[in-house]
Amino acid sequence: MNSSTHPTIIVGAGFTGLFTALHLRHQHDFRSITLIDPQERFVFKPMLYELLTGELPDDTICPTYEELLQGSGINFVQDKVAAIDLQEKRVHLACGLDYTYNYLVLAVGSIQGYLGTEGAQENAFAFRTRENALALERQLRDCLLHASQTKDEQQRRSLLTFAVVGAGPTGVEMAATLADLLPYWYAQLGGNIHEIRIVLINHGKTILSGDVNASLKELALQAFKTRTVLVELVLGVGVKAVHPDRLEYQPANSSEINTLLTQTTIWTAGTATNPLIQSLSTQISAGHLDQHGLPLVTPTLQLLDFPEVFAAGDCADVQQQRQPALAQVAYQQGASIAHNLIALTKGASPSPAHVNLRGTLMKLGMSNGVANLFDKVQITGKPGDIIRNVTYLEMLPTPLHDFKATTEWLKEEIFHRYHRPNLVSQTAAKQPPLSASEQRNRSLVKALAILAPIAFLIAAYLGLRTPPSEQIRQPQMNSTTQPTP
Ligand SMILES: Cc1cc2nc3c(=O)[nH]c(=O)nc-3n(C[C@H](O)[C@H](O)[C@H](O)COP(=O)(O)OP(=O)(O)OC[C@H]3O[C@@H](n4cnc5c(N)ncnc54)[C@H](O)[C@@H]3O)c2cc1C
Repeated sequence: MNSSTHPTIIVGAGFTGLFTALHLRHQHDFRSITLIDPQERFVFKPMLYELLTGELPDDTICPTYEELLQGSGINFVQDKVAAIDLQEKRVHLACGLDYTYNYLVLAVGSIQGYLGTEGAQENAFAFRTRENALALERQLRDCLLHASQTKDEQQRRSLLTFAVVGAGPTGVEMAATLADLLPYWYAQLGGNIHEIRIVLINHGKTILSGDVNASLKELALQAFKTRTVLVELVLGVGVKAVHPDRLEYQPANSSEINTLLTQTTIWTAGTATNPLIQSLSTQISAGHLDQHGLPLVTPTLQLLDFPEVFAAGDCADVQQQRQPALAQVAYQQGASIAHNLIALTKGASPSPAHVNLRGTLMKLGMSNGVANLFDKVQITGKPGDIIRNVTYLEMLPTPLHDFKATTEWLKEEIFHRYHRPNLVSQTAAKQPPLSASEQRNRSLVKALAILAPIAFLIAAYLGLRTPPSEQIRQPQMNSTTQPTP
């Protein structure tokens, strides 16, 4: 077995892990950093819908670590961490390699949970990874294609019924997006878009219940009614089983089992603890785990029994300050961990991580979103969608990449790739085609119509964004800083 020694190991290169590493480098801390993740690409999860819909290209939503870390001097190891020995300060990789550390950052996130539902893991489509998004796209396109070709009415109905389980933010965003996307794709195949059903199924009686987005419930319900096809709600029911061709659910206080014929169930209900974190439970005292088995960390994001280990994001629970499982939380915690690692290296005390939640952003259909500023002002529709996109695109890790992504998105906006397949567009299709100069003028007007309000929207968006500079208020490190011995 090979063994290498690195002072700072970061396990998981998602929002917490990647941004910890990048913030260390932005603070001119040139310690030896090893960042370990089994994936080749970072996944910008809040915009995974844009990968599904094709609104943004793969490289923008899921850039490779090679591209993101180019020239950073960060050692990226593409492998899965199979075990960690906290006493021995040793990380064991699936390939057999071991690394020892002086400081460890646990940033492995969470995994999809299925609440023990029969057949859900095997038959439902999850939506958390790039592979999930690509598999779902293939399924949706296959169903629409077969539906456009079959003469069997019952089969067509089940091919055109799409169930989304879980009415938290992911389920709501997914249902609203599909209600615009699927008619658009089906119209291209010549299908009757009115045969499409999007059914959102939830255990609770309301959508977005208990979530940071709960105040957006009415806006989301309104959006469901105004999509290209209506989103149907089945609330207050428990899903009992998912089969390849149907889903079974039971209303609360009833023994009756209902069946929904569908070949596509998308599962967004529940998360589970990452197995690597579960495996640490024998090394962490039971009183230092929360009710989900997540390690409790101090406000400075250190494990209670192992102060050289930081943990944050979806895989840790901050003592007495529970944070929602959000990218904006993980991103800010990554900056705090970097700040504290630098403090420890200088012999200073780590400081508590301050997370500012300034608002939330939701996609409520194609070219439709809501920006919820400070839970006071809600900007909806197209402007809300623009703020959401600009905010997220700005969060993408490298400036060069960020610039490229923003310009690609603006180009899409201006040339308007997406049209809702409705009667208006059918009428428009009967009109004579525009001349080249008319088309140019029209594009120019569209560009101006979009770009003019952007100045205002950017100002609003600045209210949402938490600049890294606000999180790390400390003098720059000397560039000759040595790795921790
Ligand atoms: C569809 C979707 C939409 C979302 N939308 C929003 C949104 O609009 N706004 C928002 O704020 N949040 C949103 N979130 C939540 C947000 O993405 C998460 O809270 C955030 O990604 C958590 O960051 P993290 O660093 O804890 O974990 P992640 O970003 O999940 O990163 C964990 C990393 O660890 C790696 N890993 C896992 N196991 C191992 C192992 N054994 N060894 C090594 N590496 C490992 C994984 O490959 C992954 O790269 C969304 C989530 C989803 C799924």
